[in-house]
Amino acid sequence: GTVRPCFRAASSLYMVSDQKLKGYFFLTPPLYFIPDLLPPGVCSLLNPAAIYANNEISLGDVEIYGFDYDYTLAQYSNLLHSMIFNTARDILIEQFKYPEGLRKYEYIPGFAIRGLHYDVHKSLLMKIDAFHYVQLGTAYQGLKPVPDEEVIEMYGGTQHIPLYQMSDFYGKGPSIKQFMDIFSLPEMTLLSSVTDYFMTHNIEYDQVHLYKDISDAIKDVHVKGMMYKWIEKDMEKYILHGDETYAVLNRLVNHNKKLFLITNSPFSFVDKGMKHMVGKNWRDLFDMVIVQADKPNFFTDRRKPFRKMDEKGSLHWDKISKLEKGKIYKQGNLFDFLRLTGWRGSKVLYFGDHLYSDLADLMLRHGWRTGAIVPELETEIRIINTEQYMHSLTWQQALTGLLERIRFQGFLFSWLNSKLFPSRSLSKNLFNPQFGSIFRTFHNPTYFSRRLIRFSDIYMASISCLLNYDVNFTFYPRRTPLQHEAPLWMDQLCTGCMKTPFLEEMVHIR
Ligand SMILES: [Mg+2]
Repeated sequence: GTVRPCFRAASSLYMVSDQKLKGYFFLTPPLYFIPDLLPPGVCSLLNPAAIYANNEISLGDVEIYGFDYDYTLAQYSNLLHSMIFNTARDILIEQFKYPEGLRKYEYIPGFAIRGLHYDVHKSLLMKIDAFHYVQLGTAYQGLKPVPDEEVIEMYGGTQHIPLYQMSDFYGKGPSIKQFMDIFSLPEMTLLSSVTDYFMTHNIEYDQVHLYKDISDAIKDVHVKGMMYKWIEKDMEKYILHGDETYAVLNRLVNHNKKLFLITNSPFSFVDKGMKHMVGKNWRDLFDMVIVQADKPNFFTDRRKPFRKMDEKGSLHWDKISKLEKGKIYKQGNLFDFLRLTGWRGSKVLYFGDHLYSDLADLMLRHGWRTGAIVPELETEIRIINTEQYMHSLTWQQALTGLLERIRFQGFLFSWLNSKLFPSRSLSKNLFNPQFGSIFRTFHNPTYFSRRLIRFSDIYMASISCLLNYDVNFTFYPRRTPLQHEAPLWMDQLCTGCMKTPFLEEMVHIR
């Protein structure tokens, strides 16, 4: 038969002949031919330790590296989540007088994922895509999924969530919140557990109070310093990959880069962690250390001046007219920082894990380059690399391509359509049975993904990924065609010009 490119089918990778398609339709059981559609060697291609670029950036031009501390320089083990969960649960019971029966709830690892939205008035935890639609099958009330029809009815007959009315740019609106930091995993799980308790016991409660109390209880765990104490007491147990942080910082300094730290955490906590990871002279590596910075306000509010602080935490009263190496500063704001250091524009690259508190304002207002730390990338890429995922995705693409080519809505159309949803659910569940991947809602990017692309030049699982690249490396984002463009270079597997570093090429580095 004639060979035609079948663009949106299995096909961006493969040429499928008409005859072959007919054969598959009527003779071949669908699952048999999927392996056939997979080009050889596509599995296990992506390297979880690679850095991915949204925007072109040359590290050679970067003179100054800035870092957030928690979950950027210091990676914490998941043990912390159950500690936060249990402590906040007990605060609810003991201080807020919530029912004793809540004690039977334990932290459920892997229940929630980062980037979910929560409708306070409906007690609905859900995943929303880049177009503000809730992904069906991913709306939970308590620990139970809400049927799609009910979700649609709750929002007046649509899956579209009016985020602009119900939330704000940073996900902190009056009725819909977005959970963006890694600490919010225990918060979402606690919210769902308590809701579950009230629902299963038919107890009437005010949803607004519940949200507020849980968020206060979680805040207490941070602000009152309980979490800091656990970490300080057992660094080995809670802080991961400290030696890699040490290697990254040292390497940058050896290449004459300037380093600075802007964290919301208190000095004594950061100092202990950095001593553990980097050594007692860690501050020699940094030109500037700013603690309790109150990000994101640090980036937008010019009123808070810097204060000098000594190692014991005492504050000085003198006016700050220069920022000196070796000194510690508290609070301050980015406007003074820029004025005093002159570190402006593209020569500065700042790394943080929080898309809003760390990166959004820098990208939108100040023009520093930004690097997002997304630890979830590691597990997600491992899943993308599996044969099972590749098969499922290829099958979906093939079905979509065929559906697109069928012009009549007959039996074949409904049959193909009926195969599509189960396959989409299957690949979703590989990531997380409740909510799927943090990056996609089936075929669309998630709301989280869109924000990630908008606010970061590069993103990676951990700061240690920098060790895999030369200090003058230039990152070029892969050119993917826009919807109206011809997919001429889609077949990058064949041309070998994929901009994503592969395991094979990088195997010598780590
Ligand atoms: Mg952080």
